[in-house]
Amino acid sequence: MTHTARFQVATRGNTHVVDVTEDVARRAGSCPVRNGICCVFVVGSTAAITTTEAEPGLVGHDLKAFFERVAPEDAEYVHEATWGDDNGHAHVRASAVGPSLVVPIVDGRLTLGTWQQIVLIDFDTRARTREIIVQVVGE
Ligand code: ZN
Repeated sequence: MTHTARFQVATRGNTHVVDVTEDVARRAGSCPVRNGICCVFVVGSTAAITTTEAEPGLVGHDLKAFFERVAPEDAEYVHEATWGDDNGHAHVRASAVGPSLVVPIVDGRLTLGTWQQIVLIDFDTRARTREIIVQVVGE
């Protein structure tokens, strides 16, 4: 059995980290699958999905500082010459993290840890509305 749901998230861009755990859990929980996998996917090449502990230090500072060290915003990106845009760092960061996440569902529940939240990270340089797809496969 496969069950697909979608929802939208408004972001501020600029490595905005948004906790989407409840949005995902509500959609995964509303389908009849009791045991299987839940795929969470963000549409677009400048955003990513991962997990973290959604506390203010990580969400508001540490993750952004990490990405600034790995792919600085003011570094040179050939992509920006290709399109005349300003978001080369956003694409590189999004590729490094990846656009999707798989969480096992056991007995009707996502098997996340207590301090493990599902987060959307929007790396683009402007506010965006992101579409998230939640697809559950199982029985
Ligand atoms: Zn671009």
